[in-house]
Amino acid sequence: MELRLILGDQLNAAHSWFKEVDDDVIYLIAEMRQETDYVVHHLQKICAFFTAMEKFARALQQAGHKVEYLTLDDTQGFDDLPQLLSHTIEHHNIKHFSYQEPDEYRLDQQLLKFCQTLSINSRCVESEHFITSRDAWEKLPNHRMEFFYRALRKQHNVLMEANNKPLGGRWNFDTENRQSLPEKVAITEPLLFSEDVTSVIERLKRHQVKTLGNIADKMLIWPVTRQASRQLLSHFLEQCLPQFGQYQDAMTERGWSLFHSRLSFSLNSKMLHPMEVIRATENYWHEHQDKVSLAQAEGFIRQILGWREYVRALYWSQMPDYKTLNHLHAERPLPSYFWDGKTKMRCMSHAIQQSLDFAYAHHIQRLMITGNFALLAGIHPDAVDNWYLGIYIDAIEWVELPNTRGMSQFADGGLIASKPYAASGNYIQRMSHYCKSCHYDVKKKTGEGSCPFNSLYWHFIHRHQAEFETNPRMGFPLKHWKSLDDAAKQPILDTATTYLDQIDQL
Ligand SMILES: Cc1cc2nc3c(=O)[nH]c(=O)nc-3n(C[C@H](O)[C@H](O)[C@H](O)COP(=O)(O)OP(=O)(O)OC[C@H]3O[C@@H](n4cnc5c(N)ncnc54)[C@H](O)[C@@H]3O)c2cc1C
Ligand code: SF4
Repeated sequence: MELRLILGDQLNAAHSWFKEVDDDVIYLIAEMRQETDYVVHHLQKICAFFTAMEKFARALQQAGHKVEYLTLDDTQGFDDLPQLLSHTIEHHNIKHFSYQEPDEYRLDQQLLKFCQTLSINSRCVESEHFITSRDAWEKLPNHRMEFFYRALRKQHNVLMEANNKPLGGRWNFDTENRQSLPEKVAITEPLLFSEDVTSVIERLKRHQVKTLGNIADKMLIWPVTRQASRQLLSHFLEQCLPQFGQYQDAMTERGWSLFHSRLSFSLNSKMLHPMEVIRATENYWHEHQDKVSLAQAEGFIRQILGWREYVRALYWSQMPDYKTLNHLHAERPLPSYFWDGKTKMRCMSHAIQQSLDFAYAHHIQRLMITGNFALLAGIHPDAVDNWYLGIYIDAIEWVELPNTRGMSQFADGGLIASKPYAASGNYIQRMSHYCKSCHYDVKKKTGEGSCPFNSLYWHFIHRHQAEFETNPRMGFPLKHWKSLDDAAKQPILDTATTYLDQIDQL
């Protein structure tokens, strides 16, 4: 008898494991305290994973496979996954143990060590989900994302002409994309599901699992099956793709997901394959060129074929050290409003409140609002990581860590981003509607009522001046800062110091 372990983020129905029904194979899918407790997660995130896991187990059973689905009630007597596995192996007289490559270093190490203790055969197989392999980073002659992405476009013939040239003659349409959102442009209503998760919530209460965030009426709005994920993909292509790239960096209080796909949970739990999403986008663009420009399709495909595969490659090449990097020596604790959204900074309160309500914020809210604030204020990357890893529906370490510690906090010293994503209130005003209803004045740099992002930005440049001297991409702000005399600099630095001293009251 063979035991095959399926982790909560391995819900890939197309995996070759499931091609044939084999009575000598038992699949194990288990809700575990080690997974609910390694960080405090959003309630919707745990509900989404547990519900999707249970539905996946049921679908496998219906297809004839032998599946053991264990809830927290069943696994409460086991301290961790290895204990549960040892028990199951003994109980079913298992002769062979198999598992799919975990995407998290923590689980990878745990299972590797566990297999070393086994007296039966064990085997780790590919998860058959990603487009590139775990060691993709090592194979790269150039480590910038753009290079990686272009190579994959060619290799997989995505948006390419016959002669190895990109469709439309360009690799990148950023200049057409990334605009702010005019008031007159209507936003697409997000497609929301309504999955009753009362029993999961009761189970979490019964086991005193600590969570964060809210859920309205105990109904989950996220897709928890492959079918629902496909529905969300179709909704995205028809309703959002035509304006995706154009407004992908825009922020507004008029909506919480704008033209974004919200497919990250379906992708990261493996209910959808990235190539399936890429080909669907490419085909949709081919068939609807009157409605969808190439810039929109390329802008979306770049996120999945480029960024998603790239951060995974970086994660596996840099772990475990990456998790400890703190290049800018940031030490401050996370302000309390990250947990309740109660701050007078409108941009922050909106981004945080919607994260608490929906377990979701789009990329620019994560990068240029909450991430930017943490970077400017010098919050310790461990605290920043834990917050991002807990709050978002799609947060799994392999994708969260490079984005948070690397891209948003520059804690890796520029491995993923060639310069820090630091911006003053000016950027936020340009890309959002937040500043109009804010307590603070985005035009003011100093004194009471001035936008905290302004003075904090220059304080950040000032305190890391020596570090940025050698970074050509920081030349412009550094030159400007140096051109100011002390009389101009001091009030800005004093305002920032006052704000940092009272950071919890901002
Ligand atoms: C600080 C920070 C933390 C982040 N943490 C996570 C995380 O834990 N999990 C996660 O999946 N994404 C993370 N991202 C990347 C990105 O913000 C989310 O993938 C995206 O917001 C998910 O929403 P969406 O599905 O609507 O994305 P869309 O905007 O519709 O993009 C489509 C897809 O592209 C992929 N994608 C886009 N940007 C990235 C990126 N930078 N890295 C990897 N994949 C990307 C995602 O799979 C996403 O579903 C983070 C970004 C930042 C700045
Ligand atoms: S004024 Fe400053 S704090 Fe307020 S919304 Fe604008 S950028 Fe954010």
